[in-house]
Amino acid sequence: MPRVAIIGGGISGLTLAYRLRQYLADVDVQILESEKSVGGKIDSVKDQGFLYESGPNGFLDSNPSTLNLSKELGLGEQLAPANEAAAKKRFLLMGGKLRMLPSSIIGLLTTDVLSWRAKLALAFERFQSNKQNLPDESIYAFAQRRVGTEIAEKLVDPFVTGIFAGDARLVSFQAGFPRLAAMEKNHGSISKGLKAARKARQISNPEGGRSSGQLWSFNQGLGTLIEALAEKLGKSNIRQFKATNLIHNKEHSKWTVEGSNGESESYDLAILSCPAFSQASILKNLDAMLA
Ligand SMILES: Cc1cc2nc3c(=O)[nH]c(=O)nc-3n(C[C@H](O)[C@H](O)[C@H](O)COP(=O)(O)OP(=O)(O)OC[C@H]3O[C@@H](n4cnc5c(N)ncnc54)[C@H](O)[C@@H]3O)c2cc1C
Repeated sequence: MPRVAIIGGGISGLTLAYRLRQYLADVDVQILESEKSVGGKIDSVKDQGFLYESGPNGFLDSNPSTLNLSKELGLGEQLAPANEAAAKKRFLLMGGKLRMLPSSIIGLLTTDVLSWRAKLALAFERFQSNKQNLPDESIYAFAQRRVGTEIAEKLVDPFVTGIFAGDARLVSFQAGFPRLAAMEKNHGSISKGLKAARKARQISNPEGGRSSGQLWSFNQGLGTLIEALAEKLGKSNIRQFKATNLIHNKEHSKWTVEGSNGESESYDLAILSCPAFSQASILKNLDAMLA
């Protein structure tokens, strides 16, 4: 029976293993996960009667694959849509105080979170010249260029931390927000781009339905999906194993995965589903350029 190793037991690796088992019954699929438990970024924690998420807190159904997978796994009854009113309440810790963030353009212009200078920068964003031929820049640099340092600091920086758990000064604008990048390129400003997008939506969807998808989780948190996938795969197909190196034996068409504890295992196929920095480390001897 062909053996397949999936390196990394986050949602990507687990779902891939589940689908491989579903479509290829005669394949031995092993998840190699460096941590004690699978799930990766997804980690629902229950503590003192509270449920909180250490990482992602929901998924959108604009691409229905996760919603469909959940139903397929029999989790339909446990699905919980996000509360729209609650989702609009966002707070920023500023000067030691929690401040409610505005959720509309009018709110942005009247909030006391921003100075008048910042509000003017926002109102005049549409008149800023666009630099079409700029090389890619960070999200922070983009915001600073279009609406000034204050908005980049107070709104964009925490927003990016919330979405990517990353540094707005390091995350590429083009990669992080391709739709906004296209708006600046095609319409000259974000406000004009948003207006054009609203118009296009009204034409294509005159009923005014939701365009960005519904956000979903489960009554007991996103970990529910991880537990269901892990249960389907079975304990014997999930191993705690930190991959450190990959060797391709071309003659026998085999892949050897070496681990941090000196172990090594041979497979017919090895699939990397761990973060890019881990992949780079695993691939460094096999293909330095790719790593
Ligand atoms: C704070 C935060 C909030 C987020 N919020 C959302 C959200 O609300 N909605 C949403 O859709 N997305 C959200 N995301 C993004 C989402 O969490 C990720 O895209 C997704 O979980 C990535 O899954 P993955 O399986 O590809 O990778 P990971 O979850 O990173 O899993 C990779 C796995 O590989 C393992 N691994 C690493 N190195 C090795 C090795 N050498 N050998 C073996 N195993 C290894 C890791 O331990 C891990 O279990 C958020 C991300 C973060 C950080």
